[in-house]
Amino acid sequence: MLENNLFLTDNPESKAEYRRIIGDTVSAVVEAFDSPKAYEGPEPFRLKKLVEMEQLLPDHGLGWEKVLDNLKTAVLPNFLRTSSRDYMAHLHSPGTIESIAGELILSTFNQSMDSWDQSPVATEIEVQVVKCLCKMFGYGENSDGVFTSGGSQSNFSGITLARDWYCSANLNHDIQKKGLPSCSSKFRIYTSEISHFSVEKTAHLLGLGYDSVVKVPVNEKQQMDFDSLERLVKKDAASGNLPVCVVCTFGTTDFGSIDPVEKIRTLCDEYKMYLHGDAAYGSGVILSEKYREKLAGIELCDSITVDFHKMFLLPISCSAVLVKDKKNLDFFTIRADYLNREEDEEDGYTNLVDKSIQTTRRFDALKVWISFQMRGKDGWSEIITKSMENARYFYGLLREQPDFEVVTEPEISSVVFRFVPEGKSDGEEADAVNKKIRRSLIHEKGIVIGQTVCRGRVQLKFTLLNPLLSRENLEEMMGVIRALGKSF
Ligand SMILES: *Cc1c(COP(=O)(O)O)cnc(C)c1O
Repeated sequence: MLENNLFLTDNPESKAEYRRIIGDTVSAVVEAFDSPKAYEGPEPFRLKKLVEMEQLLPDHGLGWEKVLDNLKTAVLPNFLRTSSRDYMAHLHSPGTIESIAGELILSTFNQSMDSWDQSPVATEIEVQVVKCLCKMFGYGENSDGVFTSGGSQSNFSGITLARDWYCSANLNHDIQKKGLPSCSSKFRIYTSEISHFSVEKTAHLLGLGYDSVVKVPVNEKQQMDFDSLERLVKKDAASGNLPVCVVCTFGTTDFGSIDPVEKIRTLCDEYKMYLHGDAAYGSGVILSEKYREKLAGIELCDSITVDFHKMFLLPISCSAVLVKDKKNLDFFTIRADYLNREEDEEDGYTNLVDKSIQTTRRFDALKVWISFQMRGKDGWSEIITKSMENARYFYGLLREQPDFEVVTEPEISSVVFRFVPEGKSDGEEADAVNKKIRRSLIHEKGIVIGQTVCRGRVQLKFTLLNPLLSRENLEEMMGVIRALGKSF
């Protein structure tokens, strides 16, 4: 019994079982997409009750049919449908169909990317995908990279390399072995005041603390203000602090704004600083024929965070960190006799664990491999360009409305704005209205949009990753927001 329903093997009965369970699942998932709405589940309290199981681990197994039933009643109908045109809250995309097939393949074979003997063909494919990505982002032959669990981990990797490189190149200090040098409390990491919080989290995890992160003000367009950066670095250097690195954002989480990388690079060279580029959001722009120039200069970064589970529309998780000088990845190498022997490398066996902060690791590169080939440059350019044009259209539309305010022109595909009802002050009263609008959209209309704060005021946010969205959809959505806003 156990033998034939546990795994997919060469046994015909196990194959039948695999087809049955996966087939049932495909049907149930397809059926769950029975409405165009993004969310039709209940509010938090009722949802909590609904998913409560008498016994999550019963004394005797319930069998597949019963569990499938439970899935169909409690779980599947209450999922957020990320592919809905009514979902635009976060940098959180639906997964393309072919990449979901990729997920099935990679989970079925369950390769682990740490050593070649756990993932022979997968290792060679990841190496090939990384090579293609390095080239795409303008890196030379000497570059390399590795897949990670997401942008936060890619940033963590990049900033760790920055710290280690700085210690090795500028302080002649072996940080891998000796830990932080005595002067580490003087280390400074510069990033814009609206960059992703994973920069500060990384500073904490690296033993440098939040105080080592210098928040550089942004200009009207929400880009790092270069003159302020220069002033802050100069001041720190003069007072004995140690400028270690700059984290430059290509696509800030809220606004999609892009920092001025060329000037930042010159400053980094002058002060012997490392430059990490956080393109978790903006990396997808590279595929747009029309807009790729927005990423000009990204190759000047010493490392780059690329997220595939945002603009690239691949299922979570899928991210990579690319490194301009592959030697820097040696900071992540530590030998284990059972895993990554030096002689393996000499004999042509690649053990990717040498470059990664993870050990057991998913074969996410497969999804990029499948999706890039299937859709090609033209297919991808259409997808990315469409989402960016939608943002431009919506921005223009809002600008014409007397009762809407927009923060800034979209650089990529997000628009941050607020509804300012006539006769209400533009202060806390309007803040409260905008908060109510977002909540009502979820629970009354099945529409999920974003909310943030800018210039001290509550803002609404459209993160337009879905290329299926039309101009009419956006006009309609604006109407719904206005009607709700007026009703409070
Ligand atoms: C989303 C995001 C991150 C974090 O990426 P995860 O994949 O969510 O870990 C980092 N930086 C920026 C600019 C982001 O938008």
